[in-house]
Amino acid sequence: MHAINLQEALRKQRERERINAWKKANRASVNATQRAYRAADPERGRKYDRQAYGRDPEKHKAKNAGWVERNPERKCQLRRESAARHAPENRARAKAWQKANPETVKAHKAAYRARQRSQDRLIETFTHAEIAERDHWTCHLCGGEVTREDWSIDHLVPLSFGGDHTRLNVKIAHTVCNARRGNRDLSYLAAA
Ligand SMILES: [Zn+2]
Repeated sequence: MHAINLQEALRKQRERERINAWKKANRASVNATQRAYRAADPERGRKYDRQAYGRDPEKHKAKNAGWVERNPERKCQLRRESAARHAPENRARAKAWQKANPETVKAHKAAYRARQRSQDRLIETFTHAEIAERDHWTCHLCGGEVTREDWSIDHLVPLSFGGDHTRLNVKIAHTVCNARRGNRDLSYLAAA
């Protein structure tokens, strides 16, 4: 029983070697056949790729990294094609995530706006909630209590005067107090 299995294994091994040697000697023909086979059913080809990847992820990761390094522009092209292919579900997923994380979205939008207005200012990303907690939910302009319904981020040195969008340069404030201040220097508070 055991001897037969060994013999069978050896036979298979020799068969594999014979096929590999033939493939090596006929590379162009093999590649053409493979291309035609894949072109006939691209989805099937992708399925086989995924299966092969699953059998030895590390090997395929290394192989892919080498290919990307040799073909940076082709990689960009593939990424664009993939993004276009998956555009509807990607958009839906992004929308759902944004809906589930409104405060993070708000924080990133504020950082984005600040970045748009100057290339060289410092930018941090933080949520209203983080600043409100730090400032004990107290408007730094009028001293009253701030809630989620009327909170806003006030820049001590206004963005329009080159102020940074950093935790150090912001305070929580009422939306109305922030609007009333505009981009004035804080000394108006003493004058009032
Ligand atoms: Zn206020």
